[in-house]
Amino acid sequence: TKGEGRNGYRFYEAEMDERIEARRALSTDLRGALDRNEFLLHFQPIVSREGRVRGFEALVRWKHPKRGFVSPAEFIPLAEETGVIIPLGEWILQQACATAAGWPGDISIAVNLSPIQFRHSDLPLLVISALQESGLDASRLEIEITESVFLEATPAIKTALAKLRELGVRLSLDDFGTGYSSLSYLRRLAFDKIKIDQSFVRDLPHEQSGAAIVRAIIDLATSLKMTVIAEGVETEAQRRCLLSLGCHALQGYLFSRPVPADEANALVTGQGLR
Ligand code: C2E
Ligand code: CA
Ligand code: CA
Ligand code: CA
Repeated sequence: TKGEGRNGYRFYEAEMDERIEARRALSTDLRGALDRNEFLLHFQPIVSREGRVRGFEALVRWKHPKRGFVSPAEFIPLAEETGVIIPLGEWILQQACATAAGWPGDISIAVNLSPIQFRHSDLPLLVISALQESGLDASRLEIEITESVFLEATPAIKTALAKLRELGVRLSLDDFGTGYSSLSYLRRLAFDKIKIDQSFVRDLPHEQSGAAIVRAIIDLATSLKMTVIAEGVETEAQRRCLLSLGCHALQGYLFSRPVPADEANALVTGQGLR
């Protein structure tokens, strides 16, 4: 009836209000979080075919005073909407370079950049100063960007990418296969690496079509002289399958979860992976 409909509508409205309120509260907290030192970086190893640690991906964590750890999947979109990603992204870059500078010279660091940072920061300048302050060699820094950067592949973005490459920084195309990237991006924009999204890895080795897609990606990337990293490797069967398909490097819980800086240091100064 009419009355029930209205109650149902009211209920829905109240629930919406609550959700909007919760988001608003979180974004208010987010604004002060950097000044309160609530962010930290974790580091997840990227390993060679032989299982040696070649580098790490920096993944940001937010330790909320009341809620505990908030997932980046939740707060990065908020940080992008509110603009907090600009100072936060700068902090992440500096912190990641400073940590990596303490590792052996053949160990690299991969840092995720948001498309918003390309629009509103002078990224090449930020990278130059993070490298100078930390003393890290440019060749050890990798920048991970997702395909969404190219939804508006403006001349400014292309210029920024070209400048980064001139500095000697490597570029990685993240979450490959999930977005809008056509193979033509791979050809036109000079990427050094692509990361195959974990959604493709998850179904290996059982899914025939999944394996065919992964094989096609690896073959194409290899012929374009790019390195292929598979993300989200959780099982020995997945590892074996990816190696047989020719994958160059692997990352996932099978090797290690993202770990705090002191554990990452231990991984590269002797102890190695268990
Ligand atoms: P991403 O860049 O694709 O990062 C990989 C995500 O997969 C990480 O989640 C990592 O912890 C998780 N992962 C790694 N191995 C496995 C595995 O074997 N199985 C499964 N199920 N998951 C695995 P996390 O740390 O929660 O980050 C989520 C997303 O948040 C990232 O996805 C990235 O898009 C964003 N993010 C994280 N840190 C940063 C950052 O410093 N800056 C920016 N702009 N975005 C970040
Ligand atoms: Ca990434
Ligand atoms: Ca990814
Ligand atoms: Ca992702």
